Amino acid sequence: MLLSSLMDRLLQTDIKFLPGVGEKRAAILFDELGVKTFEDLIRHYPYKYTDRTKFYTIREIDTTQVFIQVRGQIVAMELAGKKPRQRLVARFQDSTGSIELVWFQGIRWIQQSLKTGVDYIVFGKPAIYNGIYSIPHPEIEEAAKAELTAYPYSFQAAYPTTEKMKNSFITSRVIHKLQYQLLQKVYGRIHETLPMSLIEELRFPGINETLLNIHFPKNEESLRKARYRLKFEELFLIQLGLLRQKNIKNSQISGLVFPRIGNLFNGFYKEHLPFELTGAQKRVMREIRKDLGSGNQMNRLLQGDVGSGKTLVALLSMLIALDNGHQACLMAPTEILAQQHFMTFTRLLANLPVKVRLLTGSTRQGDRATLHEELREGELDILIGTHALIEDSVKFHNLGLVVIDEQHRFGVAQRARLWEKTGETLPHVLVMTATPIPRTLAMTLYGDLDLSVIDEMPPGRRPIITAHYYDSKRLQVYEFIHKQIQAGRQIYIVYPLIQESETLDYKDLYDGYESICRTFPPPEYAVSVLHGRMKPEEKVKAMDYFVRGITKIMVSTTVIEVGVDVPNATVMVIESAERFGLSQLHQLRGRVGRGGEQSYCLLMTGYKLSKEAKTRIETMVRTNDGFEIADVDMKLRGPGDLEGTQQSGVPFNLSIANLLTDNKILEFARRTAQDVLEKDPTLEQPENQILIEQLNRPGKEAKDWSRIS
Ligand code: ADP
Ligand code: MG
Repeated sequence: MLLSSLMDRLLQTDIKFLPGVGEKRAAILFDELGVKTFEDLIRHYPYKYTDRTKFYTIREIDTTQVFIQVRGQIVAMELAGKKPRQRLVARFQDSTGSIELVWFQGIRWIQQSLKTGVDYIVFGKPAIYNGIYSIPHPEIEEAAKAELTAYPYSFQAAYPTTEKMKNSFITSRVIHKLQYQLLQKVYGRIHETLPMSLIEELRFPGINETLLNIHFPKNEESLRKARYRLKFEELFLIQLGLLRQKNIKNSQISGLVFPRIGNLFNGFYKEHLPFELTGAQKRVMREIRKDLGSGNQMNRLLQGDVGSGKTLVALLSMLIALDNGHQACLMAPTEILAQQHFMTFTRLLANLPVKVRLLTGSTRQGDRATLHEELREGELDILIGTHALIEDSVKFHNLGLVVIDEQHRFGVAQRARLWEKTGETLPHVLVMTATPIPRTLAMTLYGDLDLSVIDEMPPGRRPIITAHYYDSKRLQVYEFIHKQIQAGRQIYIVYPLIQESETLDYKDLYDGYESICRTFPPPEYAVSVLHGRMKPEEKVKAMDYFVRGITKIMVSTTVIEVGVDVPNATVMVIESAERFGLSQLHQLRGRVGRGGEQSYCLLMTGYKLSKEAKTRIETMVRTNDGFEIADVDMKLRGPGDLEGTQQSGVPFNLSIANLLTDNKILEFARRTAQDVLEKDPTLEQPENQILIEQLNRPGKEAKDWSRIS
């Protein structure tokens, strides 16, 4: 223990004490890279490597080479051109010929430091200008010096740097040298970060060898091994953290036990269920019932594509809570969605002795007071609402189940607050999301939740037909809308809004609305408009008119993106579709195709499309499969930008692993973490002490999700 803390102390040394750093550079390293200690620097990994084992002769140079390394001497130097476009040109030759080395910046300083008649090793990208080969801004070092320091030349590492770093001459090359300095100090003294048994079993190189090879690879094979170990380790620790939290939760925190399936559930199931549950819904209900009776707190993520029927699963689960003498609540991300759930629940539960109420930001003060009172006294059974549910004044009598709809809209912090409401007893938690996420991401993002998937659509659904139209074909689209309305159907037309608060964006929406009203005039057609800035009553009214079929067309922003359910709507027109992300497009499309009629999604765009936008549109046209779309989305955007990941608290800015490409390593890391925990659930064996230390390191620990979901 003493020994390990001593070694740790060495790595915790302030980076300014490393020769070649000092106060000024230390400040820059911290500001730009967050590097503060020896350890931070050694964990600042290269992003690529170039092969420095090979030397070329000048005669061999051609411009197809990405990088070349030559050895020779400078025979002449001159300043060419006029300020501010002045450049330094050095003629450089070996026994086979000569080239020019050219600098455009730092000219004076470089000129002073270069000597003629001395052997240099030059490295850079060759270019050809006026028929003369040159290397602009080469790396150059005296050959004798390089050999003296035994500076390793094979596979030279390149490090991420910033503009500010370069301006202060902290180049990739300088970082490389600092790493060399550092390794000389700490090599052999770096504390192992994995248990020996694991290192042996997986045939990993030791941590010292790994870190040496990541910065100064001996050869390709040792580089590969070092990279694999570091990637594995990074993913393994995240998984271990998540899975351990889950274990702790299950062993220490007892959940409410709901053993009974009582009158409410049975009564509803037998007499009021509007349709037969799909196989997937039944399976998920079994999984949930098992959780609720287990004595552990349920923490379940329910994934199901848009329209797969998650609401009914929520309702049935809530009835189980009620049957066991508890209250339940449902939190939705928007007022409209909360309102809609409230209507669905009231309708479905109309003939049962269940009291359902709605609480949103626009609930009147007076109503609010009675509602709070009823809630505290336990007279209210089901509370449906928005963020308003997590306001401080809301107190439940005995909350037994929390359902969170469209989870990605809520941050972890908000989930945490809802949980705190309950004081001593933990309610069961069911989180529902329609945003399918790739499996690798789910494993990280929701690694501590149990997963249920509804992978089957209610019967009779026909796949939505999706087509791409350029704006110039608008008349054709209108013609189509007209026909659909004649056939009794309803239409959504959605406009993008970058920010609900920007006035400018509303212009598109209102221009669109006016032009739609002109094209489809009343009384035959009636058009609703809906956006986030309208008063809550107006929103509800607009939605209500559309739900009841009084209006035929709904012109709106993405406020209708999530969850809205009007089965008679069969056409979703998305204006400026190129401005939407894939998951958003998929969500919007999910608003149609909810009844038995054939539905359509029409993506309108201008002619000019970026490559990414094209891929998005093509993907939408090609497939209705949410998981496939999620995969493409992740490839386009990278995992860190996907919805939900930023507020997830999971460290997505991984330092070496990549959730896109390292999914095999991730799966293996998760399995290994499971194995380790199976043998030693609390990690109390001495050899696993090291893992506890790793998990407890500041900034490295996985978020304690057991408390917040
Ligand atoms: P989502 O999973 O997107 O929240 P919803 O719960 O809103 O989907 O359900 C979509 C539509 O499918 C609703 O109109 C709902 O009434 C209907 N539905 C749900 N389950 C079934 C089922 N088993 N059979 C037929 N229709 C169903
Ligand atoms: Mg829904």
